[in-house]
Amino acid sequence: MSLFDVRHQPRAMRVLLRAAGAGRMPHAYIFAGPEGVGKEMLADRLARRLLCGAPTDRPLPPELAADFEVDRIPDACGVCEDCRIAAAGTHPDLHLVHRQLNRQHPDAAVRKQQALTLGVEVVRHFLIERACTRPLRGRAKVFIVREAERMGEAAQNALLKTLEEPPADTFIILIVSSLDRMLPTTRSRCQLVRFAALPTVFVHDSLARLRPELGATERAWAARQAEGSLGEALRLCDDGVHALKQSWGRRVADLAAGTAGLAATGLCEPFETDAKALGRLAAQRDPDMSDTDATRSGIRTLLGVLAGFYRDALRAGLGSADDPIHGDQPEVAASILRACGPASCAAALRELAQADFNFARNANLDLAIESLFIRLARLDRA
Ligand SMILES: [Zn+2]
Repeated sequence: MSLFDVRHQPRAMRVLLRAAGAGRMPHAYIFAGPEGVGKEMLADRLARRLLCGAPTDRPLPPELAADFEVDRIPDACGVCEDCRIAAAGTHPDLHLVHRQLNRQHPDAAVRKQQALTLGVEVVRHFLIERACTRPLRGRAKVFIVREAERMGEAAQNALLKTLEEPPADTFIILIVSSLDRMLPTTRSRCQLVRFAALPTVFVHDSLARLRPELGATERAWAARQAEGSLGEALRLCDDGVHALKQSWGRRVADLAAGTAGLAATGLCEPFETDAKALGRLAAQRDPDMSDTDATRSGIRTLLGVLAGFYRDALRAGLGSADDPIHGDQPEVAASILRACGPASCAAALRELAQADFNFARNANLDLAIESLFIRLARLDRA
């Protein structure tokens, strides 16, 4: 286990390694970027480095070596007692703070709540109060806060003082995928470390390693559809979205051609059925998710699939040499393009982005789906 397990995040690595090299580690970080790109992994590796009893020098990987005067950086040794118990997930000074901790809260009323947000009670009990205690093994305490953007104003305000003046041996890492949901006061007290989308080829190769049972077609599609998020690519595969997207490809081609046997509004029902099925899978992973949020996450997945078809058509229309997302269904983009032309593809993408925005803000589900399909069916023909 090493800091360098995290790949293809040179910008984030540079920020961390410069501070570590200068011996001036900030005590509060925001790790911000898309989901599934290595934020939590890097937080974990940094924690192990901070807790390790005997850090050892590790050579910098070639892609980073050019930026530093030194060619070795102290990293967790991987063999001392601290490293061993950190790897086992039982290090008493490594605290993972997440919204489901409400179930372990001393107050019965808090335990009963549905953990939709990372509540102020959880933040107080599991972070603020513990930050004031001494490290149990003497070296440091590290708090990794998962989904920190789910802290409401009360929780973020409660945390401000701790972020501003944490005890000397305390490090707090806020993992955030929507930076705009963090209060400016929170942001200003933390060192911001930005993470980028991963290269498609890396996502593709990681899928081959982590899901060897997948066929090559599905793997190639998921790697491109996930837009640089390994976490998202794994979810698409695990939820069987590839099979769903094939039938949606055929429907989109009919819709664009204006030859849909179904009226456009006839697509609402299968769309809702598929979105709810995907939502149920999301809810199985996160029992605290509300039904509405679960369905919404399914809708967003399907909208992403539909957008992929129009994006492929637009790219083909503009003569782009990029690999198509739906490379296994080239006929869909071709038939969209024949019927609509690039300008209408761009209009369709705007409609889909608007629908995504509306669903994220509690639009009436049936109405919004119907109006989306009507708009897509009424695109100007080429
Ligand atoms: Zn160690």
